[in-house]
Amino acid sequence: MSQVTTGEWANPKAQDVGATVEEFLTRLGGPTWIFLPGQDPSRTRAVTTLLHGNEPSGVRAIFQWLRSGTRPHVNLACFIGAVDAALAEPGFAHRHLPDCRDLNRCFRMPFEGREGRMAAGVLDRLRAINPEALIDFHNTSGRSPAYGVTTRLGEPQKALTALFSDHLIVTDLRLGTLMEAMEDDFPTLTAECGGAGDARSDETAMTALRSYAMAKSLWNAPHRSAQVKTFHHPIRVSLEAGKQVAYGASSLFDVDLTLRKDAEQFNFGVLNQGETLGWVRGDSLGVVVARDAKGRDRTREMFAVVDGRLVVAQPARIMMMTTNPHIAVSDCLFYCLPVSSSE
Ligand SMILES: [Zn+2]
Repeated sequence: MSQVTTGEWANPKAQDVGATVEEFLTRLGGPTWIFLPGQDPSRTRAVTTLLHGNEPSGVRAIFQWLRSGTRPHVNLACFIGAVDAALAEPGFAHRHLPDCRDLNRCFRMPFEGREGRMAAGVLDRLRAINPEALIDFHNTSGRSPAYGVTTRLGEPQKALTALFSDHLIVTDLRLGTLMEAMEDDFPTLTAECGGAGDARSDETAMTALRSYAMAKSLWNAPHRSAQVKTFHHPIRVSLEAGKQVAYGASSLFDVDLTLRKDAEQFNFGVLNQGETLGWVRGDSLGVVVARDAKGRDRTREMFAVVDGRLVVAQPARIMMMTTNPHIAVSDCLFYCLPVSSSE
């Protein structure tokens, strides 16, 4: 059994973290906790990031923060996860290494294998720290506005979202994420900062981290929280087992499903009934499956095939769309929500 070693670095000095984020990660050498003392040392806020090695905005923000040498208002406890996957050539390209599991699917029983044991260690540590809140920074694989995700909606989750976005997705999907594991312990939010590789996503993460680290109180701006719009229980749309997907401007005849190449522009946008998402081979809806958090099949309610085109069967908001075929197959294609008349 390979050993899980998680490093620790207390109060790193600006001159010790390297000149680039890559140099910083090389110095970490593996998953690491970084502890920064606050002006008020009686309280701690937690940050986790890089649970996915190809989502750099959170760790870039932490690196910039360390380089600035700024003392946070309260203690910060930062966990940086998949350092090895992030450093693997060509850099920030691998969600996880080929022989490893997706770390952010391992935060539940039975905590087996290297990633499972690491996840259990992170949970134990977070419970011992008992922070005021936890923000887990991610990037989307497609281009997208920033948004928060929570498994438990309350005013604290809205307040954490308001630090960087006014969109909050509320889901009961159980995937084994860190957020799910911590929801009963303290306010926890997944911060999706926008597409990986987009400079605006890095700025979003930096803005969020700065506000989070420097706020005297996280909970005293109800006027900002009130502007956060919530989207409840999006339906997960995945490819049927064994089917293939590609992205193009028109139907690609050698794959089962072609999704529009420009599909990621739909993120958080509304499609009207009959609007085209892509094209299917064989004129059949059997290539996609849409399931809600209760596991109910919603495919026929949400989609239809018209002359080989995959269309939405009712006005729907599209979210978390990827245009990366690998992620589309291994995770899901996108999420959607019927647009209710009350919206
Ligand atoms: Zn992620």
